[in-house]
Parts: sequence; C-alpha cells; structure tokens
Amino acid sequence: MKTRVRFAPSPTGPLHIGGLRTALFNYLYAKKDKGIFILRLEDTDQNRYVKGSEKYILESLNWCGISPDEGPINGGNFGPYRQSERKYIYEKYIEILINNGSAYYAFDTPEELAIAREKSEKKGESFRYGSHNRHLFNNSLSISNENISKNVSKKHVVRLKVEPGRQIHVFDEIRGNISVSSSLIDDKILMKADGMPTYHFANVVDDKLMSISTVIRGEEWLPSLPTHKLIYDAFGWKTPKFMHLPLILKPNGKGKLSKRDGEKGGFPVFPIKWSQEISGFRESGFLPNAVVNYLALLGWNNGNEDEIFSLKELIKSFN
Ligand code: GLU
Repeated sequence: MKTRVRFAPSPTGPLHIGGLRTALFNYLYAKKDKGIFILRLEDTDQNRYVKGSEKYILESLNWCGISPDEGPINGGNFGPYRQSERKYIYEKYIEILINNGSAYYAFDTPEELAIAREKSEKKGESFRYGSHNRHLFNNSLSISNENISKNVSKKHVVRLKVEPGRQIHVFDEIRGNISVSSSLIDDKILMKADGMPTYHFANVVDDKLMSISTVIRGEEWLPSLPTHKLIYDAFGWKTPKFMHLPLILKPNGKGKLSKRDGEKGGFPVFPIKWSQEISGFRESGFLPNAVVNYLALLGWNNGNEDEIFSLKELIKSFN
C-alpha cells in the first residue's frame, strides 16, 4: 500500500507549534517513503470555525517548506478536502451503519440529556449514554416503529450502537497493544442534529476513503481510538496504522504548552503572526529551517548527537 498520510487540523484559530510538529512528522514520514502528504480540513463544527485559519495553516506549512501534495487548494483525486464539502458522503455512509444495525437514531432533546447528566453527577458518576441505559431514552431502539417514522423527520442525532462486554484491541505503533472493554465506551454521536458528522465519524470515513495508510496525530486522540476501531469494524473495514505523538509540554513539564506559556516566557508558540497580539517565529526573526530543525527534535533524534539537520537530511534519517 502506498504511504499516504494526512494532517487534519480543525480551522479554529492559529496553528500552534504542537500542530505544526504533527504536520512535520507526517510530512517526514511520507517523504521518507516517497509517499503523499495530505491536508484535510476538519471543519464540521460550525460553532468553532474561525475565519482566516485555513489560510494561516497553509501559509505556515508553506513557510516551513512542507506544503501538502493534496489538499483544499491544490486538489487531488480524493477530494473534496474540506469536510464541510463532504456532507453528501457522510449521509451515504451513515445509512450503511443504520441499515446494518451498528447505528441508531436518537431523539432526546438537549434538555432531557442535561437532566440525565445532572442526575448522574449528583450520584457522583459521569454520564454515559450506552447499552446499560439506552432503553430509558428516546431512540429507535426503545420506541415503536410507528413513532420512529414520526420522529425521523424531526431533529435527531445518530449514535453508534456499542455492544457491551467485548474486548476492543487496538495497536499504536508507539504505544503498542492497547485493549479496552466496550462496556466502558458510550454510544457516541456520529451525526449531529444539524446534519453534520461528528469528528469521530467523519475522521474514520475520510481516512478510509482517502486511502490513508498511517494516521499520525497528537496523543490527545488516543482515548478515541477504541471508538474509531468500532466504527471501522461496523463497516467491515481494515484500520490504517496509528501513531499517537506525545504532546509538547510546558517548560516545567506539567501539561500541554499553551499560548499563555509563550506570553509568560517571552517565546513564540505559533509559526507566523496571527494578530496584533499573537506574533510568530517568522516575525521574531527565526529562519524556517531552524524552526523545522527545532520541531523535528521535539520527540525524535537519529540516535547520534547530531543537532543540525536540513529538511532533506531529516527526510533521509527520520523514522
Ligand atoms: N481535527 C483533529 C484535530 O484538529 C484531527 C485529529 C486527527 O488527526 O485525527 O486535532
């Protein structure tokens, strides 16, 4: 299988250097293998969309010399590359899961769910919508067929039907074998009431349809991997390879590096300028090669004491 990797940011603001490092590792991994580096914009959350982010992301990648081979601007055979333009695809694929019994409609209102959540919290439990309580809610598994037809025309979501009592096995190339009981996983929403897919659903469908061979992303997504595995299984699809990268931490090592750390410490955490208040490495006078060199060594080295690498040299020795 040809190596095809993707960097899949959500356009919710400027690209943090943690995101840029994920892009760089994807790029190096692909280029080492003469593969393809794809940019996919995960813009299905209309509430979090920030104008100008897409342009910023592209400009940052271009500045670093790691431009995508396929993406929203230069196109490719696997487009569209903006998830908001792929709605018709998700609609088709969710039908498959509804028809094969892996997903179901849920009609609960946000108010009803808020009450249920509050009840659980009062008992000191975190709320989970799943096999243990789905019969208590208003969904196509709990109500009559006649009522389902009535409700489907109204606002509803589609949830993944997670069967309890199953061991889910996933493999991360960095972390190794991971197994989780399906009884701990909730019936995640796959399609939202606004007709848009959730991250989990769109991510799996797109990685499959874009023929992604290896998913390289930040470790904050590792807890979602068992849910993703269930979605792949529900379709009968083989999963790509997964690599979850440790996050870039604050200087004191406690927690994820944030914009505030940069402000406090007087160092940039963004590649290029975003606004009057948010400057970048570029504006601070750093050369793109130096930024790439620095990011590459945050989480990788070639086993020697070498510290200075051009992009070409990185491609050659990265693994
Ligand atoms: N849209 C997700 C993010 O911005 C992508 C996660 C992934 O690569 O699967 O972090």
